[in-house]
Amino acid sequence: MSTTVLTGVCPECETDLTTPPIVPGETLSCPECLLTLRVDDIDDGRLRLRMVEVTLRDWGQ
Ligand SMILES: [Zn+2]
Repeated sequence: MSTTVLTGVCPECETDLTTPPIVPGETLSCPECLLTLRVDDIDDGRLRLRMVEVTLRDWGQ
């Protein structure tokens, strides 16, 4: 079994990211540029990340 961390690069600011094991479809935030990134695929422990367009909303109540 694999308990290693996953690594990836932010497509926006090219910061190296490490995450605990996650699955494709999950999202995370880049700690550097705070962009929301979605995991497109995981290739041999490397994350393929895609920017997610996030519309900031007032969620109201
Ligand atoms: Zn970034």
